[in-house]
Amino acid sequence: MKDNIAVIGGGMMGMTVALRLSEKGYAVSLYEAADSLGGLASAWQIDGVHWDKFYHVILLSDLYTRKMVKEIGLENETNWVETKTGFYSNGKLYSMSNLIEFFQFPPIHILDKFRLGLTIFAASKMKNWKRLEKIKVEKWLTNWSGRNTFEKIWLPLLKAKLGEHYKETSAAFIWATIQRMYAARKSGLKKEMFGYVSGGYAHILEKLHLHLLSKGIKIYTSHPTQKIQKKENGIEISFSNGKTEKFAQVISTIPSVIATPMICGLEEMEIQKLKKLNYLGVVCTSILLKNQLSPYYVTNITDDAPFTGIIEMAALVDKKYFNGNSLIYLPKYVKATDLFYQKSNEEIEHIFISKLLNMYPQIKKEDILSVKTARAAHVFALPTLGYSGSLTPLKTSLDGLYIVNSSYITHGTLNVNDTVKLAEEAVASFF
Ligand SMILES: Cc1cc2nc3c(=O)[nH]c(=O)nc-3n(C[C@H](O)[C@H](O)[C@H](O)COP(=O)(O)OP(=O)(O)OC[C@H]3O[C@@H](n4cnc5c(N)ncnc54)[C@H](O)[C@@H]3O)c2cc1C
Repeated sequence: MKDNIAVIGGGMMGMTVALRLSEKGYAVSLYEAADSLGGLASAWQIDGVHWDKFYHVILLSDLYTRKMVKEIGLENETNWVETKTGFYSNGKLYSMSNLIEFFQFPPIHILDKFRLGLTIFAASKMKNWKRLEKIKVEKWLTNWSGRNTFEKIWLPLLKAKLGEHYKETSAAFIWATIQRMYAARKSGLKKEMFGYVSGGYAHILEKLHLHLLSKGIKIYTSHPTQKIQKKENGIEISFSNGKTEKFAQVISTIPSVIATPMICGLEEMEIQKLKKLNYLGVVCTSILLKNQLSPYYVTNITDDAPFTGIIEMAALVDKKYFNGNSLIYLPKYVKATDLFYQKSNEEIEHIFISKLLNMYPQIKKEDILSVKTARAAHVFALPTLGYSGSLTPLKTSLDGLYIVNSSYITHGTLNVNDTVKLAEEAVASFF
């Protein structure tokens, strides 16, 4: 048996790191603060429905996620569905699911549509993402699509995902988003094929948990790490329950801004860089509705709205998982320090539901069966100008300690596929 290694954080990153290390012969212990594994991918109950706390889909192009799903025996339980995308613009709902609908979309005129199409096509073909890190997303999109299309289409979409922080974000962000969505569409009519595993991420996590145990990985939930320090012949981790354990090597997969203050002995320059990462959080309200809102899995909103968009799970997932009802998600990406994030769940739900009922007059208050709000303070680090150059190495200055988390996904978006890929690449390069 090789060294004993601790992995901190039991999300998809930590679980993948732990699995690959154990396959290489290391003795692995996995520590998670919550009482179950899964992190952002975990599930919860809403009115008897057991589904993802935050919405998730798998794309046909998510080869790393699909490989993992196959390894845990769920390949045949993956369902692929042709989905549709909607746009809510000037108080009306439009389908934007194929090229014909794209050219019929009214808010911008035909020449602007060609430029918009060209922007998406160009981004899908570009390879040099590092060059795009040097230019702000607003400038790049305005150059390609024109000011009018930027204001009418891109700006609401950027604001939805980044709030006012779009101003600091590089063009690599939109490049990575377009690359991912483009890969999701088949050739020809560019239809979307989205996938989910029967039972959702709850099922994936349950199987993955068992798979890790079968590999001999020791899993400790309800074990928040509090301190990480160098000791003779290893690294000591202290947990909030008072326990301490020593390991030859430690890999932290939790957000850098949470991990950094816990680590004793990093170089000052490294601390400054790690602490400087600008994380966005998310507030996400799940609503169980009697009737389906629309045929669209995603509805992008170009009008003013308190939420980022609307994700309707029932447009993808068999309604039997929702007891015949529809499950929708209303997310808003904000910093945890933002006033909106500080609001109570009740206040947020009131704001979101009022707007939803106003946007969809066919839905009545009585149609809402249940409402529940989830939030996460550190979801992804803003890809600012020159982002990849501002990151510290995964192998830290503290001998035996590695930091591997989503902030190191430099030319991808936040998703499980890129998470699994990064975890596997990190294990392959250092162990
Ligand atoms: C709203 C939303 C929608 C999404 N939609 C999709 C989608 O459609 N498709 C897709 O592929 N991906 C999607 N994702 C992204 C996906 O959920 C993430 O990429 C993935 O789950 C990240 O895994 P992770 O392990 O890096 O991070 P996390 O899941 O954040 O895991 C970190 C873990 O560390 C634990 N932790 C924190 N502090 C400590 C501590 N002190 N000690 C021990 N443990 C600690 C946390 O509890 C957590 O379990 C979505 C995410 C969100 C928020």
